[in-house]
Amino acid sequence: MKGSLNIVGLGPGAPGQITGEVEFALMAATDIVGYGPYVERAATPGAVLHASDNRVELERAHHALDLAAAGRRVVVASSGDPGVFAMAAAVFEALETRPEDHGLDIHVLPGVTAMLAAAARVGAPLGHDFCALNLSDNLKPWALIEKRLRLAAEADFAMAFYNPRSTARPHQFETALAILRAACGPSRLIVFARAVGGADERIEVTTLGEAKAEMADMRTLVIVGSSTTRRVGRFVYTPRSAP
Ligand code: SAH
Repeated sequence: MKGSLNIVGLGPGAPGQITGEVEFALMAATDIVGYGPYVERAATPGAVLHASDNRVELERAHHALDLAAAGRRVVVASSGDPGVFAMAAAVFEALETRPEDHGLDIHVLPGVTAMLAAAARVGAPLGHDFCALNLSDNLKPWALIEKRLRLAAEADFAMAFYNPRSTARPHQFETALAILRAACGPSRLIVFARAVGGADERIEVTTLGEAKAEMADMRTLVIVGSSTTRRVGRFVYTPRSAP
């Protein structure tokens, strides 16, 4: 049997927000590899499940490549999109050290990333230029995060923040909010979108002046508007043109 490796995005959690090609790849898989909760979401009756801890990305990537090289039809599953702060880059990092596997049948199948699902819930806050930042300092120094925050605010991007706040580093998000308040002012809109697509989804729209760090946790996607982001009725949007 010729092995293959599909690196797929499951979307944010709502059943309707997984693509047809990802569902097809899951149905054809002999093995599904990934972080425990995602593997559970991706499970099919025919596949062997390989659930792992969230912190062992590179190990997990090598394991998936080993299985594909041995002839299995492997799916590596991420939530949202696999290329956004997720497994696709980890697989390619592992592949760099395995020239013998460069010919493997490898595909990345995109998914609806949390930022887009969250934006859609409130309207169109990412309708003009925007950027996405991962606020976790697990894989980069905190000083770099602060620098990128300041420069993104100065450039007047709308901003989407992944991994905003964990119990291991509760104070950093407060620092991030303080930097944003100083750069953007207290009336700037901010959206907290928690568990989008899940049964416990919660969406809050407020201003930087009113925002509290506790409004975010690791299941929250935060969007801060640009200077033109505004409310219309119950929606939030950023106009298509900037002054
Ligand atoms: N690959 C994923 C992101 C992984 S990083 C994607 O494309 O969506 C994990 C972070 O994504 C979380 O800390 C949170 O900020 C965000 N996230 C993932 N799923 C989410 C959801 N359903 N609702 C809100 N935020 C989510």
